[in-house]
Amino acid sequence: KEPTLGNPQNTIAVLQKYNFSFQKKFGQNFLIDTHVLDKIIASAEITKDDMVLEIGPGIGTMTQYLACAAGKVVAVEIDKTLIPILEDTLSEYDNVQIINQDVLKVNLAKLAEEENDGKPIKVVANLPYYITTPIIMGLFENHVPLKSITVMVQKEVADRMQVGPGTKDYGALSLAVQYYAKPYIVANVPPNCFMPRPKVGSAVIRLERYEEPPVQVADEKLMFRIIRASFNQRRKTLVNGLKNSPEIQFSKEEIEAAIETLGKGASVRGEALTLEEFARLSNILSSAEQ
Ligand code: SAM
Repeated sequence: KEPTLGNPQNTIAVLQKYNFSFQKKFGQNFLIDTHVLDKIIASAEITKDDMVLEIGPGIGTMTQYLACAAGKVVAVEIDKTLIPILEDTLSEYDNVQIINQDVLKVNLAKLAEEENDGKPIKVVANLPYYITTPIIMGLFENHVPLKSITVMVQKEVADRMQVGPGTKDYGALSLAVQYYAKPYIVANVPPNCFMPRPKVGSAVIRLERYEEPPVQVADEKLMFRIIRASFNQRRKTLVNGLKNSPEIQFSKEEIEAAIETLGKGASVRGEALTLEEFARLSNILSSAEQ
């Protein structure tokens, strides 16, 4: 069954039929451009062997495209007023399951276990921008079995996920994403591809999950505490950032010695360190702990 949604006319017809009003608090900006939808589906490389998790199906526009390409689609939508609409727009598809919940409260690892026998799933979504970071970090940190994540996000957030040291966008999100996955920006998408138009530019980013992380870390949690502490006080030196953080228990002397072992000067800032260097720094400190 070919998708019927994805253009402005049919989207408006559905919205009017159900007298739907957009809720700003849910970050509702629906896609109305078939080219963008085709591009997302193609770059997600979905096959009939795949189970796709869609976060925030809205009126079911992308869900129709996903249902055509995938073996199975599970879509989690928070807004209960969209549920009868989804039942209507997806009535022709027998491989779609809708869950009416806040995605941040769903145990997605368990869902993948139950719905896909624990095999890795693909996540494809036009994300609600107000919770992009908790959604992406939750998928990684809760060890949801994943092949890839292909998502529409705010342009600036896509840039942050992709950059390395030496740029203003580099931060804790860049490092976390790049520890778990290989990021690649698929397309930039202007506001007129959505209804209503968002105030910001958007981009589709694909994150391909690594089977093994690109760096060896003895204590992942410690590395992420160090990363967070370094960027919480961005303009301070790394020594001061770590020394002042309640999350880090090492003394000033231990921190200074570790930075020296890393081969960096006392005035180095966290924002200058690569993922590999954060990994080494955390390994030096965790071996000092023993
Ligand atoms: N996929 C649709 C499309 O592309 O036209 C809608 C995308 S819209 C940017 C984001 C969707 O996420 C909305 O349908 C919104 O109601 C839903 N949403 C917002 N917060 C959510 C949450 N915490 N859990 C699940 N869905 C959520």
